[in-house]
Amino acid sequence: MNKTRPNRDELIRMLSLSQPEEIEALYKQAYQVKLQHVGNKVHLRGIIELSNICSKDCYYCGIRSTNTKMERYQICREEVLEEAQWCFQQRYGSLVLQAGEREDKFWTDFITELVTEIKELSQGKLGITLSLGEQTEEVYRQWFEAGAHRYLLRIEESDQELYKTLHPADHSFEKRRECLRSLRKVGYQTGTGVMIGLPGQTVEHLADDILFFYDEDVDMIGMGPFIPHKDTPFAHLVPGYDNEKALEAGLKMIAATRIALQDVNIASTTALQALKPAGREMGLLAGANIIMPNVTSTSYRKGYQLYEGKPGLDENAPDTRDALEKSILSIGESIAYDDWGDSKHFANRQVGAKE
Ligand code: SAH
Repeated sequence: MNKTRPNRDELIRMLSLSQPEEIEALYKQAYQVKLQHVGNKVHLRGIIELSNICSKDCYYCGIRSTNTKMERYQICREEVLEEAQWCFQQRYGSLVLQAGEREDKFWTDFITELVTEIKELSQGKLGITLSLGEQTEEVYRQWFEAGAHRYLLRIEESDQELYKTLHPADHSFEKRRECLRSLRKVGYQTGTGVMIGLPGQTVEHLADDILFFYDEDVDMIGMGPFIPHKDTPFAHLVPGYDNEKALEAGLKMIAATRIALQDVNIASTTALQALKPAGREMGLLAGANIIMPNVTSTSYRKGYQLYEGKPGLDENAPDTRDALEKSILSIGESIAYDDWGDSKHFANRQVGAKE
């Protein structure tokens, strides 16, 4: 655990590197920090995209509520349980339930039942991470008591002024930050993150995002490059969008975060893979240690386009799964099967609290 607050100028320096050899050296340094603090085993979490129904209207997101150019879906209980069973048989260790944001009781009770049933079908062995947006502390507690133990809620951007330009006026930064604090209070391993390369975002903002992660003492980070979606207000705000540059910015952010925070879990996200087929493996080499293969039934995947060009339409086909394992082995890492892969930072802060 890093006991000294990271130096802002040093973070800005890392994020501003532009020479290929310097960037390569940054990735290598981050990789060494990762080996020292979390090792070289990748943990997999099968992600089930339960529903694209969302009450939020974020300007960058393809499943925003006012996007009428898509069909809305919700996967039924039986199918979710089948997908969970499949994850368990693949020995993935954990799964993530993700969806658009809804706070109605029908939905929150549905999630409680799913969590309970997934725990039952795996005799308690599958770890469950939730990524279901802003909820009351009571709902977070209900899901925690049902058996979920990790939660991902990206702050999206930690600068309040920039946050306002990305969301309608009724979306509150303070509320989202309060949710992160409630999650931690309830006892979850708590994850957050940002998008990288948002319109108006600078390296100073990104450095402050890392300081936000540090100050909130989060256990896990999930972040990836912003990728425009044609049916959103942000479609045309980034003229000359360059995949290579966006990927590089994402990888530098992973590396700087690993160096600054040391023992947290960091996901190598699908958005990296969307920009380059080997993007997630590059993320592992820049300091990430988690991959979340998509296990949603292929028939629903088109409906969960947060951004354009989302890859992995057939990721649970056996050949793609084998290919993922092979490519992980080829970069000198291996997969930890049947293991929750909890955040070392979480374990370390429990020890710290007792001291
Ligand atoms: N709404 C849920 C999670 C679903 S969206 C929640 O807040 O927990 C998952 C993540 O996709 C979001 O947190 C956001 O960071 C990311 N995302 C949305 N639109 C994106 C885009 N255009 N490019 C890249 N990532 C995007």
